[in-house]
Amino acid sequence: MNINKVGAKERRLIMANKETTVLHVPFDRPDAYHALNMPLYHSVAFEFDNAEEMELAFTGRSAGHAYSRITNPTVQYFEKRVQSLTGALSVTAMNTGMSAISNTLITIAQAGSNIVTSNHLFGNTMSLLKNVLGPFGVEIRTCDLTKPEVVRQHIDANTCAIFLEIITNPQLEVADLSALGALGKELGVPLVADSTVIPFSHYSAKSLGVNIEVLSSTKYLAGGGTSLGGLVIDYGNFNWKNSKKLGELAQQFKAFTFTKKLRGDVYTNLGCYMTPHVAYMQTLGLETLNLRYKAQAENTLALAKKLQQTEGIASVNYPALPDHPFHEVAKRQFGDYAGAVLTFSLESREACFAFLNKLKLVRRATNLFENKSLAIHPASTIFGNFTSEQLEEMNVDNRVIRLSVGLENVEDVYQDILQALN
Ligand SMILES: *Cc1c(COP(=O)(O)O)cnc(C)c1O
Repeated sequence: MNINKVGAKERRLIMANKETTVLHVPFDRPDAYHALNMPLYHSVAFEFDNAEEMELAFTGRSAGHAYSRITNPTVQYFEKRVQSLTGALSVTAMNTGMSAISNTLITIAQAGSNIVTSNHLFGNTMSLLKNVLGPFGVEIRTCDLTKPEVVRQHIDANTCAIFLEIITNPQLEVADLSALGALGKELGVPLVADSTVIPFSHYSAKSLGVNIEVLSSTKYLAGGGTSLGGLVIDYGNFNWKNSKKLGELAQQFKAFTFTKKLRGDVYTNLGCYMTPHVAYMQTLGLETLNLRYKAQAENTLALAKKLQQTEGIASVNYPALPDHPFHEVAKRQFGDYAGAVLTFSLESREACFAFLNKLKLVRRATNLFENKSLAIHPASTIFGNFTSEQLEEMNVDNRVIRLSVGLENVEDVYQDILQALN
């Protein structure tokens, strides 16, 4: 029997585990040629048999596709695959991680509202908050998100979201999601989390209390660094009646309120939807995400332990290390590994540059979770346009190298690091 024709109930029986389910998500409708993989519908427009059907599709009263800035079958299939892994209410695929973040915050925030977050954010995200949303009247309140009681003091009636990175990049700080999720629930503020640094195949953001998960699928998910993409994952577990901006909409749309606003007004107008070719590539990436992450995370922990014993390295930062300050919370939330990126510090900025220039196998590049190992000096690159005062506030140290660990044999990577240190 073709899996596409097996009913939902039986599918749940034959696919008890999500590694299996994610590979066999059925198409919305049978493919004319019985294609095994979702075909790439590289078409801007979709045509209709009659004007009545056309009206239904354009006014959102039927599920038909009309125009690929709004929906596309290949992209929708990718969203459905992600939904099967995460158990989300809805998933929206965007053209970059930054689109996922900006569209989400624009959906929730309005002039006069504030976002409670931390200084430890990805550089573009910080600049989005301060330089783009700020001038539209959204206040950015930064505090130490690893201390829920401090977060509580920053929340007031105008707070529209607690926004954080599940593991901050590049500080590798881990917040207690359950505590923040509970706080958000108590105070009626949604918890919005960027999970780019640790993929959803390995923990459940929903069960930790996250309401909206955003991520750059450019990183782990794409695999091999083929394409830019982002995801907005709505778990449907926030009561939007508590939102100043969306409260009224919530009367009608209940759990679907956020997705309704995002899809109805925001991403379509900003023009941020994922393109079908990218969705095709990232669907393939998703099929091997679980395996790649395990191998890369295992390599990262092994390498972190070796680097701790290596002369010339002042300190190693990876939350899965037993002596890491966030070890306990990382282990409780994510298990044995905490992503596949680590940082280590050398004596000076000059030592970092000399080290980078001597690398032969590890590549000098800025992506995360490529199949190849990549090294970068964050302070002079990703954070290169911030002042030294701002860098200090953000805890971006001039002596730190960030290493995204790939699928190579870990001993080869270690040997390259050793030769570059000398
Ligand atoms: C890379 C990254 C982003 C932005 O993703 P793009 O796909 O490059 O737009 C956002 N947040 C974090 C934590 C990232 O590492």
